[in-house]
Amino acid sequence: MDTNKIISENQINKLLEDYRNTTKEEILRIIEKSQECHGLTLGEVAALLQTEDEGLMEILFDAARFIKNKIYGKRIVVFAPLYTSNECTNNCLYCGFRAANKKLHRKTLSKEEIIHEAKSIEKQGHKRILLVCGEDRRSTGIDHIVHAVKTTYEAGDIRRINVNTAPMEVEDFKKLKMAGIGTYQIFQETYHRETYRKMHPTGAKADYDYRLTAIERALEAGIDDFGIGPLLGLYDYKFDVLATLRHSQYMDEKYGVGPHTISVPRLKPALDSGLKEIPYAVSDKDFKKIVAIYRLAVPYTGIILSTRENATLRDELLNLGISQISAGSKTNPGGYGKEDKEAKQFENSDERTLDEMLQVICEQGHIPSFCTACYRKERTGNAFMELAKDAHIDGFCQVNAILTLKENLLDYASENMVRKGNTLINRTLNEIKDASIRNLIEERLGQIEMGKRDLYL
Ligand code: SAM
Ligand code: SF4
Repeated sequence: MDTNKIISENQINKLLEDYRNTTKEEILRIIEKSQECHGLTLGEVAALLQTEDEGLMEILFDAARFIKNKIYGKRIVVFAPLYTSNECTNNCLYCGFRAANKKLHRKTLSKEEIIHEAKSIEKQGHKRILLVCGEDRRSTGIDHIVHAVKTTYEAGDIRRINVNTAPMEVEDFKKLKMAGIGTYQIFQETYHRETYRKMHPTGAKADYDYRLTAIERALEAGIDDFGIGPLLGLYDYKFDVLATLRHSQYMDEKYGVGPHTISVPRLKPALDSGLKEIPYAVSDKDFKKIVAIYRLAVPYTGIILSTRENATLRDELLNLGISQISAGSKTNPGGYGKEDKEAKQFENSDERTLDEMLQVICEQGHIPSFCTACYRKERTGNAFMELAKDAHIDGFCQVNAILTLKENLLDYASENMVRKGNTLINRTLNEIKDASIRNLIEERLGQIEMGKRDLYL
């Protein structure tokens, strides 16, 4: 396959050049248009990316907030990563797990250890996990991943497992699908070939094209929820954000389905990193702009924020279009049992517990959600996109957020959280105008109080 058809550097550079000096009036028109929730053209994105005007930024942020609420309502989905192995035969210069890092304590979790981690994550109150591992065919091949997914599901009440792993062949993706994963996530890191080559000097990951085409193989295997996103800081963010959206456009045109999620990992210092400094450091200001632009450009795509960012910025980003957030995370295999600085992928910048994070989400008026319904109701891929595009997903999201929050309050929450959560639920119920929906939620809440669990629409 000619992968230049997916990402053409000339096309991306030309768009950035053509829209470099877009007028203020035109930027305002683009932001206005975005609120119809039909997305933006690549040219319009190129224009927004190159806007520095502070006043326009505020208008952009307001639009991102508006769109997030229109499509997803007030809910913010919460999850935690489970690192099953830090063994890796690649040499990504920026990553603590790279093979050349001899200081790292290497570890692949045994079955008992995976069970322990899954239970510890669940004990915090989580129902959704992102499973992560390095790439080493001997220890983290498809058998390890499938085994880890099955073990985690069997360990307790984790209801959705998404995975972030190396690309693979269709046959292996089929095994992953059979194991019952939700979203398959893979970051291209950078879409800029020359930078990609420098950052990935050896190992299987050096093959840019094999990585770029992974989500197509996943689709062929029947996994229709996929997540993408560049690692911000490796190359000019304007190029990489535009390329991510081009990748999304290509998938939409060819398969009728865009990414279920876009993540915004920003490069962090890692143990024994091969980089002396961050090549294209992204400022907080630009980071906020990036999140808001994604929200305007692909309104129906979830945007995921991790604990790579600090608490203050994360709290702010909750109001700029983020729809999923990790919390209470550990980034070393076995980290929920015992933290090991020398086994981590990167340092967390937000050390708050899940309960503390949930309180902040509630204080800001969002509804924390542990919902796993769409995947189990087969609202995935195209079916999900159609619902989201017509802004109908909000109805499901709100109800399921309230129901899963109630479970959390009864089973895991601190006293403070119980108070804040119940206040939020009552306030939200009072705001629901449709009496039949209110009655339905109240009836289900009653069932949950009586001991029923895992109720969803
Ligand atoms: N090994 C698999 C791979 O590379 O695709 C999956 C797991 S890898 C640990 C997950 C992601 O972590 C990578 O795709 C990369 O974007 C991100 N990452 C690696 N090093 C990082 C760092 N120093 N700071 C922030 N994110 C990093
Ligand atoms: Fe290995 Fe992934 Fe880290 Fe690269 S980013 S060194 S492939 S774990």
